Amino acid sequence: MNKKGTIVMKFGGTSVQDSGSIRNVINIVRNTSGSKVVVVSAISRATTTLEIIARAAAAKDVKEAEKQLEEIINRHHVIINELVKESSLKAAAAEKIINYHRQIAELIKGLSIINELSLRILDAFRVFGELMSSNVIYYAMLNEGLEVELINSQDVIKTNNDFSRAYPNFELSQIKADRIVKPLLEKNKIVLAQGFMGSTEDGIPTTMGRESSDFSAAIYGSLTDADEIQIWTDVDGVLTCDPNIIPDALKLTEISFREMEELSNFGAKVLHKNSVKPALKKDIPIKILNSKNTASTGTTVNS
Ligand code: ADP
Ligand code: ASP
Ligand code: MG
Repeated sequence: MNKKGTIVMKFGGTSVQDSGSIRNVINIVRNTSGSKVVVVSAISRATTTLEIIARAAAAKDVKEAEKQLEEIINRHHVIINELVKESSLKAAAAEKIINYHRQIAELIKGLSIINELSLRILDAFRVFGELMSSNVIYYAMLNEGLEVELINSQDVIKTNNDFSRAYPNFELSQIKADRIVKPLLEKNKIVLAQGFMGSTEDGIPTTMGRESSDFSAAIYGSLTDADEIQIWTDVDGVLTCDPNIIPDALKLTEISFREMEELSNFGAKVLHKNSVKPALKKDIPIKILNSKNTASTGTTVNS
């Protein structure tokens, strides 16, 4: 894409879970100079809740589905109220969430009649997590005066139709990125995009597997020929062991692409297993960083 100096910054669910965390994300983005693509996950637990909603609807338990939906929708409205102070922006943000609420409620109704849950329908539910979080973050960023444009990853990340674990078509996605992402970066806009999701050539929503927003960041890194892919999460970097099993695991300063791929393949949740390949192919370093501890230098994954 010949846009030198682009940095992809991905923020996971715990980094965008509430208004305090999002405020922190906005500061991190503001304090990072250069051309930026920001990839965001759904707010924590949103994707799992959307799966619960879909399963309840398919089991004809519309009451339970609607109850769960209310909760997740309300979390987004609370964040808007706390972060988006300018009245026209607040109204626009709330309107987006109200619209998504309506769309999910329609899906619940339809699914309770069909009474059968396919992976394609499950993806249709799941994408709302990232659609909602990215909209809330977009309006919060506008409220803070950031020069940001929100794009829809369904327009850029074109995938096969292997629903729930779709894989991107890099050639097709490159054409879309050159058309959609490149002009925005050239205008010095921060490009804000959803992780996890894409769409088939026909535009049907897909997701690339649970926790795959890291992979999305690597895809955007490849498509923009980025200088660096930053994965902002809730630990100081890649640790020698899963900290949930070994609490005093040590942080690695550097790790090779190959070793990282092996760790991810063995289930290290800190980086989705598909993330290394696109980065390795274009020799783009991946940095794992802690959004709650920006003083830490993190872990660099490189060749
Ligand atoms: P995010 O929501 O930012 O994507 P994840 O929960 O998916 O964050 O990934 C970060 C988590 O991965 C950490 O909180 C940690 O519990 C877990 N983890 C598992 N193995 C490792 C490891 N080897 N190094 C660091 N974190 C690990
Ligand atoms: N929101 C998705 C999930 O919870 C993707 C991600 O967070 O990486 O699986
Ligand atoms: Mg993750």
